[in-house]
Amino acid sequence: MKTKSLVGEAHEVQRAVALIRFGARLQVLEGEINLSRERLLRLYREVAGKSPAKGMLPFSTDWFTTWQPSIHSALFFNMYRAVRQVNGIERVDALIRAYGLYREHLALSGLPEVLSMTRAWRLVRFEESGLLETAACTECRGVFLLQQYDLKRHFVCGLCDMPARAGKTRAAAAVARAEAEAEAVGAGEALA
Ligand SMILES: [Zn+2]
Repeated sequence: MKTKSLVGEAHEVQRAVALIRFGARLQVLEGEINLSRERLLRLYREVAGKSPAKGMLPFSTDWFTTWQPSIHSALFFNMYRAVRQVNGIERVDALIRAYGLYREHLALSGLPEVLSMTRAWRLVRFEESGLLETAACTECRGVFLLQQYDLKRHFVCGLCDMPARAGKTRAAAAVARAEAEAEAVGAGEALA
């Protein structure tokens, strides 16, 4: 995998740096960036100031459908889908832009970061391969992600049907909910 031009290569470096700054694991870079492994490793050490973590990435789709992750996944994915509508935008650029929007949103709402860059990338790949699918909540109409074989017709999201143990974070969830809905509407408009 070699890029043909210096300009093309500079562009790949920019993308890699953006991903590393967002905390992406090396596997994300290897999957998305058209540079040699050696160069990616050097970039990683230079930008992150340390060697990349070793070990496998989590492979399961379960995590994305548990309570709090499902809300953050929906928030991110609605942004991603809206960004992806921009003509000719590549997946990696949409990923970087949408993840930046997700992080801005968390900072503004005072919410913790639940979805890491690596998880966000996984989410996009799982959705592309059909292992995760979108479904609209029958109560709030927000778009959420479900596993391939989950029933989608009578789906109620984690914000509309909140587990009792989530009581402490109800206030935070209410903020996320209002904004997730706004995002879903925005994404809907972008799709129309
Ligand atoms: Zn709902």
